[in-house]
Amino acid sequence: MTDVFDQAAERADEMLSDALFEQQRRAGLTGQTIQDSAHFCAECDEPISDARRAAYPGVHLCVDCKYQQEKQARRTRGY
Ligand SMILES: [Zn+2]
Repeated sequence: MTDVFDQAAERADEMLSDALFEQQRRAGLTGQTIQDSAHFCAECDEPISDARRAAYPGVHLCVDCKYQQEKQARRTRGY
């Protein structure tokens, strides 16, 4: 298994386009999995799709609220 991961690390740039790999990379960075993803948005209580929960392990905001949050954050940081 170690060899596989070493090879994956060497080819990380190529592998980034692979959705599954990207998902695992995110999970590795945050230590979170789809199990940590919320079923409903913490802001507006809208259901969060399984695809979004899988793509963003630990997600707790729907697309709209996340967008608003990032827009707000950019404004706060003065970008
Ligand atoms: Zn929401």
